[in-house]
Amino acid sequence: MKGVFVVGAGPAGMFAARRLALAGYEVCVFNRDIRPGGLAQYGIYPLKTKMKSGLRKQFEQALALPNVHYFGHVQIGESYDLSLAELESFRPAAILFASGAQGAKKLGLQGENAYGVYAAKDYVYHYNQLESHVSRDFSTHRHIAVVGVGNVAIDVARWLLEDKPAKHTQSVVIVARRGPLDVKFDAKEIEHVEPYISRRELVTELERVRARCARVGQDAAPDTVIAKHFPHLDEVGSEPAVPRLRFRFLSSPKAFVPNREGRVQLLILADNELVQNADGSVAARATDEQAVLDVDTVLFAIGDRHDPGIGLPMGPEGFAVKPAEQPDAASYEVWDPAEGRVHPGQFVMGWARRASTGLAGLARHDGEAGAERALGYLSTVADPGTMSVEQIHERIAAKGIRVVDKEELGLLARAEERRGQVDAPNSFHLIEEGAILQAIDEERALEALEVSAGGAT
Ligand SMILES: Cc1cc2nc3c(=O)[nH]c(=O)nc-3n(C[C@H](O)[C@H](O)[C@H](O)COP(=O)(O)OP(=O)(O)OC[C@H]3O[C@@H](n4cnc5c(N)ncnc54)[C@H](O)[C@@H]3O)c2cc1C
Repeated sequence: MKGVFVVGAGPAGMFAARRLALAGYEVCVFNRDIRPGGLAQYGIYPLKTKMKSGLRKQFEQALALPNVHYFGHVQIGESYDLSLAELESFRPAAILFASGAQGAKKLGLQGENAYGVYAAKDYVYHYNQLESHVSRDFSTHRHIAVVGVGNVAIDVARWLLEDKPAKHTQSVVIVARRGPLDVKFDAKEIEHVEPYISRRELVTELERVRARCARVGQDAAPDTVIAKHFPHLDEVGSEPAVPRLRFRFLSSPKAFVPNREGRVQLLILADNELVQNADGSVAARATDEQAVLDVDTVLFAIGDRHDPGIGLPMGPEGFAVKPAEQPDAASYEVWDPAEGRVHPGQFVMGWARRASTGLAGLARHDGEAGAERALGYLSTVADPGTMSVEQIHERIAAKGIRVVDKEELGLLARAEERRGQVDAPNSFHLIEEGAILQAIDEERALEALEVSAGGAT
């Protein structure tokens, strides 16, 4: 058998698997989480139900292909369930890595490990109820700083500001390294949180940084910035009540001061100035001035890194890929920088190729383009005699790893449906790992009973 392995079942991995399966290959998808979907399931904002269920349906269709085999709840990596060498020992013809960007960026600042300081992605996994994060403590209190000005920062702020009765949030401040003209969020996302912004406070902040922006030719006049990046703010009439969303531009975290219990209580910020690089781009540079914010929670939304624990060769940008032959050409081949050669038959795609870059549609496209590249390679290699799906299951089970396969995802869906009918129609979801696995076992036992009862009549 000429089998192909895909590591990761987010949009990139699922659409790559589909493409390879439609080309006739037996495809084994290994996924860390029990359910497929990656950030499309556990990242996208919980209220975007239409988008999430649309993507989920497409993943289900890919998994329904008879030559796609799912190995959920299996983490690949040198320090995880199955090392790369073990994966290779199953003799795949190619391995496609679509494992996303699972490592958090650390700034190496004093007090960074204080209680109450979190990576935004972990917090997002927590509120989207990923089984590995749902029971971990991501407590947020009243005054929260979110570092970063992309869509993830806005999503996290939205979660903290919405549904007030369930949370304690009084203020959220978004801390931006650069100026107001360098924000990265979309108008569509900021609209959700504009009702929490005081126009008066925003104008005061914009006036505070205006002269520093003007020094590099940026017009940060309040009317200009508001028209460009806060287009709905005008429609918001009165001053909002708590919780409030504020912005602090030209500021970078410098240190965290914990209280006696070890929870962050102060965030020290360096005031930045803007400087023009030789290539015309604008960069932030810390000055000696500083500011202090009273906070009890800090969330970092500054992008993610690739996980070195997987064991792929790393370069300065994360997983190393073959240097592109043309400047703008995309490269998918895993590259060993030490030896200056590709790892034959290994490819990266989606956020595993370019961390924290683009929406689910782009990850889908990148997964398909990566699969296309892999198909070109596959057409040139002999059948390595990939182990059968049953043999792979046996090998993994022998290591004491509890795989959740495609059939069990079906059992899980049925178990959830059954419980949903009893508890709260259409809203019940099993979220704890132990409860999920137990429900699958119970559903299987129930199914066996139904079969034997059917046989007895
Ligand atoms: C907070 C947030 C909000 C977002 N909102 C939107 C939105 O509204 N609209 C939109 O279009 N896009 C949104 N995105 C972007 C979108 O989620 C990503 O573009 C997309 O999910 C990336 O796909 P991927 O397959 O490359 O990686 P991921 O989705 O991260 O999938 C990676 C998969 O690999 C698995 N994996 C990881 N490590 C291993 C391992 N060692 N072994 C086995 N499996 C592994 C994971 O379990 C996961 O299933 C959002 C992203 C974030 C972070």
